[in-house]
Amino acid sequence: MGALADSNSDPIVEPVDLLARAFPSLTEDQISFLMDKLRIQTYPAGVMLCTEGAYEDIFYLVSSGMTVIYKKLNDNEDLILRYSGPGEFFGEMAIVQAAPRAASVRTIEETTVLEVDKPTLETLLSQNAQLALTMMRTTFNRQRENDQNTLRNLRQSYETLERLDRAKLDFIEVTAHELRTPLTVMRGYASILAMDPAITSSPTLMEVVDGMSNGTARLHEIVNNMLDVQRIDMKQMTITKSPTSLPVILRGAAQDIQPALAERKQQFTLDLGDNNDPIYIDADGALLHKALMQVLLNAIKYTPDGGSIVMGLRYEEHDMLQTSAHIAVADTGIGIDQEHHKLIFEKFYRLGDVANHSSGKIAFKAGGPGLGLAIAFGAISAHSGLIWVESPGYNDVTFPGSTFHVLLPMKSRVERQGDFERMGSN
Ligand code: ADP
Repeated sequence: MGALADSNSDPIVEPVDLLARAFPSLTEDQISFLMDKLRIQTYPAGVMLCTEGAYEDIFYLVSSGMTVIYKKLNDNEDLILRYSGPGEFFGEMAIVQAAPRAASVRTIEETTVLEVDKPTLETLLSQNAQLALTMMRTTFNRQRENDQNTLRNLRQSYETLERLDRAKLDFIEVTAHELRTPLTVMRGYASILAMDPAITSSPTLMEVVDGMSNGTARLHEIVNNMLDVQRIDMKQMTITKSPTSLPVILRGAAQDIQPALAERKQQFTLDLGDNNDPIYIDADGALLHKALMQVLLNAIKYTPDGGSIVMGLRYEEHDMLQTSAHIAVADTGIGIDQEHHKLIFEKFYRLGDVANHSSGKIAFKAGGPGLGLAIAFGAISAHSGLIWVESPGYNDVTFPGSTFHVLLPMKSRVERQGDFERMGSN
């Protein structure tokens, strides 16, 4: 067999020399055995030699030219792992592991390769431990390099996402402030108009002014929610703690949702169990009220007319939080699929078609801007508490329902730390 055609600027290399240089541990007999079995192939640029995910069993040693080794990231993007040129090999991983190809390989210029099939490679590996070791070492090094590259890429993507998120938060803050000033002016004018005898004497005009007042109040609430979410994300949420009675907070929230419940003809039960006494916890009552209102208003929104909602309070022991107040809000609504259980607490994350978005606050399935649960999450986290949802899944025919759980530690983190340390020193 003659020297390989030199398609590019690479020097012409005899296959025997190439094998000896690439795998110095091969004996002369093993090289002759290989020379009998291998195929020498020259491919133009753009030919796929390996395809990610495919079961293929050819091992390649590049003689001349260049290939690119890459993985598919998504439909439009590839992640380039490395380039493989003269003297380098690829394709051994899938053969040794008897697994599909972990990456794709494509020629990027005219490339000549020595191709070895699986039985030949396996025979050689079983005869030559040094060769097996060298290959293992190379494979492990590549794996480690791939891992490091992946980690670097992940880190970069994470930093980019963080920058984008920060830009989004800046935008929210500027927009919310820009909206708040004219809104305050409009609300002021609307309340002046509402007192003018020329208006109060006309039911039609009074209705118009009421509409203006309600509309601006709703806008104001959304703008404030946007600012709350921005503060939570920037860790600028200030909380003012004082001894707070949870049964009082729960009763207050239950009272506030009465008009919405009446409008939607839903039954509501407040189940305080034996916890009617005002047991106090150190908390920001206004913030807890706000968090519960978001969860309760969602329960109303995502439950059909005539459905029912139960809010319960129990005290229980938790591994990490120790004695905790457990508030559960269970509804008979549309439910939530498992894949969204974590994501719904992210700002602006909402389900359903945006086209079906409704600006109504409590109409059935009136999806809002996706801020409510992000605020609830921020408020509960600010109390070192936990919030999560349980639901068998979404179904707007059978209404499997959802239960939102809130766990609030009765003792502060410092007190709990003290308890742990005392336990440790006993
Ligand atoms: P939104 O303003 O859209 O109500 P939230 O942050 O309050 O935003 O909720 C996020 C999403 O979680 C909602 O769009 C809704 O799809 C889902 N969700 C929240 N609470 C419930 C519930 N009780 N039942 C069913 N789905 C819910």
